[in-house]
Amino acid sequence: MLRATSELIRHAIGLVYPDSCLVCDAEEPPDGALRHGLCSECRRAIVSDPFPACPWCAQTVGPHADISKGCGECRGAGFAFDSAVRLGPYEGKLRDAILRMKLLSGEGLADRLGRVLVEERGTAHALAEIDTVVPVPLHWWRKWTRGYNQSEALAREIASSLGRSYEPRVLRRARFTTQHAQPTRSARLINMRDVFRVRSSARVAGKAVLLVDDVMTTGSTASVAAKALRDAGAERVVVAVLARR
Ligand SMILES: [Zn+2]
Ligand SMILES: [Zn+2]
Repeated sequence: MLRATSELIRHAIGLVYPDSCLVCDAEEPPDGALRHGLCSECRRAIVSDPFPACPWCAQTVGPHADISKGCGECRGAGFAFDSAVRLGPYEGKLRDAILRMKLLSGEGLADRLGRVLVEERGTAHALAEIDTVVPVPLHWWRKWTRGYNQSEALAREIASSLGRSYEPRVLRRARFTTQHAQPTRSARLINMRDVFRVRSSARVAGKAVLLVDDVMTTGSTASVAAKALRDAGAERVVVAVLARR
């Protein structure tokens, strides 16, 4: 009993003060350089976006691309969100971190990545003028089988780091949707139609909302969720993701 209790306490302490990197498991170096649970190498790889990104949809763009009216991905796509912010592309260490974060044991990592996103991108104009933070919800069945919604953990930490309100119950997923089954954006948009409902319009009416998800792929999930928020009166919807595919 005593042993089980001390194991539990050690586990809890490990979540708050990990002694190895949450992404690559490297042990804490003697100088104690683990910041937010990440070793310096992982942190550098995760925060240094190697490519320029489109300010409207966060897609990687070429160095000389004209993005004044959006990039090839979002120009004419009619996304319902106003702009999007990312940490980087979905590859390398950032991808490793996101895959780990999706496991139940990755909840501590989600918190830390939320904090890192604010530290690195929090001064971006789009994030600075946010009133409230809303996560993209999982369907209850998926949340139950996974154990938690990583976007909620991310959004909670982003809200607290920005000093804004956190509204995890504003959006609800009204139906279960299959993932990755629709390769094109138009097919996904049909699949996603009416997926999100807004529970409490009063909490978003007239506000600038930050919509948080872990990864943006075609942009259709974020766009459909943003449209539901706009229909409920949100003045502006900015999307924050860790990575863009
Ligand atoms: Zn590491
Ligand atoms: Zn774009």
